[in-house]
Amino acid sequence: MPGAPSWYAASARGVRARPRLEGRIVADACVIGGGYTGLSAALHLAERGYDVVLLEAEQVGWGAAGRNGGQVGSGQRRDEGELTQRFGLEMARRLWMLGEEAKALVRERVARHAIDCDPRNGQLITAARAADAVALRRRPERLARDFGYDAMRWIPPGELPAMLASRIFHGALLDAGALHLHPLNYALGLALAAEAAGVRIFEHSAALGYAPGAPLTVRTGTGEVAARCLVLGCDGYLGRLEPRIAAHIMPINNFIVATAPLGAAGARALIRDDVCVHDTRFVVNYFRLTADHRLLFGGGENYRRGFPPDIAAFVRPYLLRVFPQLAGVGIDYAWGGALGISRTRLPHLGRLGANVYFAQGFSGHGISIGSLAGQLIAEAVAGETGRFDLMARLPAPAWPGGTLLRWPLLVLGMLYYALRDRL
Ligand SMILES: Cc1cc2nc3c(=O)[nH]c(=O)nc-3n(C[C@H](O)[C@H](O)[C@H](O)COP(=O)(O)OP(=O)(O)OC[C@H]3O[C@@H](n4cnc5c(N)ncnc54)[C@H](O)[C@@H]3O)c2cc1C
Repeated sequence: MPGAPSWYAASARGVRARPRLEGRIVADACVIGGGYTGLSAALHLAERGYDVVLLEAEQVGWGAAGRNGGQVGSGQRRDEGELTQRFGLEMARRLWMLGEEAKALVRERVARHAIDCDPRNGQLITAARAADAVALRRRPERLARDFGYDAMRWIPPGELPAMLASRIFHGALLDAGALHLHPLNYALGLALAAEAAGVRIFEHSAALGYAPGAPLTVRTGTGEVAARCLVLGCDGYLGRLEPRIAAHIMPINNFIVATAPLGAAGARALIRDDVCVHDTRFVVNYFRLTADHRLLFGGGENYRRGFPPDIAAFVRPYLLRVFPQLAGVGIDYAWGGALGISRTRLPHLGRLGANVYFAQGFSGHGISIGSLAGQLIAEAVAGETGRFDLMARLPAPAWPGGTLLRWPLLVLGMLYYALRDRL
């Protein structure tokens, strides 16, 4: 079973057993990490004619790619207003357009490789507080005027209950241009496409370290890869592999449950149009229906190294706050995963020396931006550095305290904001 004991693992399609790396092999490019970043980089590189080896410590999709909420939002993780304030309108437009390209890339990959991952359109962004509603209401006009995006509209509080069977929200934005999908099946489909393009994928082959150079050498427990360039796509699972980038992201644990099947009518009674939903809280609640009519609900996170012993009991209060009518419904699956959060919530792309590329810190927006990051890395390896450099120039400050002290400082900060959610 790939990944965690999740509903995704239980409904996975395209699972393959892949060999462990044994002995020494040579390639043009070595990619570490079988999530969206690594798989997308490997696929794009192979399509450009590079001989690519991908090393995955566990199985393809074992990391956040196989555990996440499956929501593919528009633009970047930071909204266009925040981007404009921080970088000016022109740069905000370029970043927004890259985010849109990332979303289109996901759709294009799913279509081109016939990836069986139940893609469905539409996302509601619900206002958790009245003040959030004021900010959300401004977005459709600004997006249409300054960003040429006209797929968002405001749903007033009075109209929302017909679309979403919850009374706690102060209206919502409906983004018809966003989508949701089965994230593990998307990753598994990318892996099959990469292999069809010639990528050699090794599982249970954790990279233990690498010696820089040209070629550089990546070492696993049972083999090594000599390659002209290296791609690091490990995000929240990077560990100690590359200390120079570790302090720039904070791995945070986030949790999801899947209810017992509710039946087609029961499921649609909760979310009429089968769109995905997330709210505006700092610790976001996010939810959607599955193809077999369950509610998949993400809520709550922790800032420790381990998961709570009973994840279902941990998430249930968040679920019941949104849908108290589900008090008697069972929870069939509960799981968690780690995602890399950057301080700016913008992705952290870059290069170490001449031939080591990395992308991480997608901060909850990694299905699309991770997929795009893989493409940008492949472009940069091929010498087309413009778009990669644009993203690599984004500020990516290290978390205070570096790799050693970032945890206690983060816990303090996060608890403060989580407390504000409750007030
Ligand atoms: C609970 C949860 C909900 C989320 N919800 C959403 C959502 O709704 N929408 C969205 O866009 N994003 C969401 N995210 C974030 C998204 O899943 C990540 O941004 C995305 O998966 C990052 O992709 P990645 O390939 O960079 O890293 P990952 O998918 O985490 O993959 C990294 C891989 O690297 C491997 N690895 C690490 N170290 C090594 C090593 N030394 N050697 C070999 N392999 C190694 C790991 O085993 C892992 O498989 C969520 C994340 C979580 C945890």
